[in-house]
Amino acid sequence: MSNFVWCHGPSCHKSHTQDRIRGVKGSKVLRTKKVAKVTQDRWTNMYSFFCSQGCYNDFANTYVREIIALHPRTEALETPIDIQQVKHPEYNNGYYTQRAYTETKIIAVDNNGG
Ligand SMILES: [Zn+2]
Repeated sequence: MSNFVWCHGPSCHKSHTQDRIRGVKGSKVLRTKKVAKVTQDRWTNMYSFFCSQGCYNDFANTYVREIIALHPRTEALETPIDIQQVKHPEYNNGYYTQRAYTETKIIAVDNNGG
């Protein structure tokens, strides 16, 4: 079992960087970069499959329609909340006066994991 995956960026092998150069004189290539394989699921993220944010962006922009087709959003999601109005009085710290203001606090409501 190999301990790496190839970067999934569709243009990874086109970036002009020295660490992509492979091959012998006369038949040099720029090669897709290796990405160290993640062994634990909890560490899996985009850097488990891409060598850089740029390669991730290239992949996402190239395949976004296919990815959306796999995970379509056909209706809006909602998070239950409570709204709390918190009044803050005028305050002076000796250098600066913060005017009184009302803060609108959004408080998550536990809907039992739904
Ligand atoms: Zn890459």
